Amino acid sequence: MSNFDVAVIGSGPSGASAAFHLAKAGFKTVVLEKETLPRYKVCGGGFVYRGRKEMPFDISETVDLEFNKVDIYMGKKLHFVTERAQPIVSLVMRDTFDNLIIKKGQELGVELIQNCKVTSLTKKEEGVVLETSQGIINASCVIAADGVYSTVAKMAGWTEDTRNLIPALEYEIEVNAADFERLSKEIRFDIDAIPAGYGWCFPKKNHLSIGVGAILKEDKKIKEYCADYIKFLGIEEIVSIEKHGYKIPVTPRLDGFVKNNVFLIGDAAGFADPLTAEGISNAIYSGKLVANALSESKGDVDKAAKIYTDIIEDTIMPELLTSMKLAKLFYGSKLVRKTLLKRYGQRFSEAMTDIFMGEKLYPKDVMEALKEKLKEKMTLTK
Ligand SMILES: Cc1cc2nc3c(=O)[nH]c(=O)nc-3n(C[C@H](O)[C@H](O)[C@H](O)COP(=O)(O)OP(=O)(O)OC[C@H]3O[C@@H](n4cnc5c(N)ncnc54)[C@H](O)[C@@H]3O)c2cc1C
Repeated sequence: MSNFDVAVIGSGPSGASAAFHLAKAGFKTVVLEKETLPRYKVCGGGFVYRGRKEMPFDISETVDLEFNKVDIYMGKKLHFVTERAQPIVSLVMRDTFDNLIIKKGQELGVELIQNCKVTSLTKKEEGVVLETSQGIINASCVIAADGVYSTVAKMAGWTEDTRNLIPALEYEIEVNAADFERLSKEIRFDIDAIPAGYGWCFPKKNHLSIGVGAILKEDKKIKEYCADYIKFLGIEEIVSIEKHGYKIPVTPRLDGFVKNNVFLIGDAAGFADPLTAEGISNAIYSGKLVANALSESKGDVDKAAKIYTDIIEDTIMPELLTSMKLAKLFYGSKLVRKTLLKRYGQRFSEAMTDIFMGEKLYPKDVMEALKEKLKEKMTLTK
C-alpha cells in the first residue's frame, strides 16, 4: 500500500501538467497511467500558441513542425490566411509531447506508475482509496485526468446525461514525395469537409495527420466524409495509413468539477473548445489551476475545491459557454456559415487566430451582434 498527497489518474497533458505543478509546490504526487509510456494518443497534435506560451519549460524538442500561418478554406472558392509573428499552431505527436511533460514532473519528484489501471475508488474519512491493477493507493485527493470517457468520474459519482461527446477521425498517412511536398507547406482547416464540422490536414515530420470532426453531433457517415476529404486534398498515392477514431467532449460537465475529494480536469471535465474541438491547451491550463488551488489551500481539500470551482467558473466556463453558442450558430446552418464566411471570412479567421494566440477571449456580446448582421444580410439576399 502506498500513500500520497495527490494521485493523478492519467498521464495526458492535463494529468502531466497537474503533476508537474503539484510536485513543484512540494506535494507528494503519483501519476497512475494504464498504458506504457510513451503511448499513442488519437489526436491531430495541433498545439495552439495560447497553450505553448504558458508552458513552464521549452517543448521545442517535441515539435515536428510549427506554422506562423494558418489556411482556412470553405470549398474551393473561399480561402482565408492569417499570419502572426509566433507559431499559431505547433504540431506534435502526442506520445513524445505528453511524455516530455511527465519527464519534467519526474525531475521534480513525481512518481509514475505505468500499466496501472484504476478499477475502483472509495472515499474514506482521511482521503481516497484507489484499487488499481498494481495494488492499493491511498491519497488525500485524486485528480481525474483520465480523458473523455473518464471512468474515475463515473466511480466518483458524476453522471453522463448532459455531456456531448462528438466523434472525430484521425488518420496518420504517408503519401508520395510530391503530395508531401505540396501538403506539408501549410496547416489547413476545411470548413464543410463534413456537414456541421471541419476537416484538417496537419503535416508532421514525415507524414500527414488528416482528420474530420463532426462538431455538433454524432454522424454515422463520418468515415465516408473522411475518405472524400482525402480525395478532395488531391492525394494521389497512399503509401501507408493508420486509421484512428475517438471522441472529443464539446460540452463541459454541468454537475460540478469536484466531488468526494476528486477533481476533474481536461477532457474528463469536458474542457475542449466547442467551436474548434481544440483540447490540449485547456487540458494543460486546468491541470495548472487544480495544482494552484491545492497549493493555495495548503492541501486543504475542501478549500481547494472551492478555489478550483471558482476559478473554473471565472475563466474556462465563460469561454466554453460562448464557444458553445457560436458552435451552434456556425455549424447549425450551412446558409449562416456561408454567409458569415463570404462576408466576414477574413475577420472571423483573424478573430479565431487571436483566440488561438491567447491574445483575445471569445467576445461575450458577439452572439447578438452576429445574429443581427446575419439577419440583415439574409433578408437582403432573399
Ligand atoms: C481525432 C482527435 C483529434 C484531436 N486533435 C486535437 C488537436 O489537434 N489539438 C488539440 O488541442 N486537441 C485535439 N484533440 C483533443 C485532445 O486530444 C484532448 O482534448 C486532450 O488529449 C485531452 O487531454 P487529457 O489529458 O484530458 O486526456 P488524454 O490525453 O485523453 O489522457 C488521458 C490519459 O488517461 C489514461 N487513462 C484512462 N483511463 C485510465 C484508468 N482507468 N487508469 C489509469 N489511466 C487511465 C489514458 O491512457 C491517457 O493516457 C483531438 C481529439 C481527437 C479525438
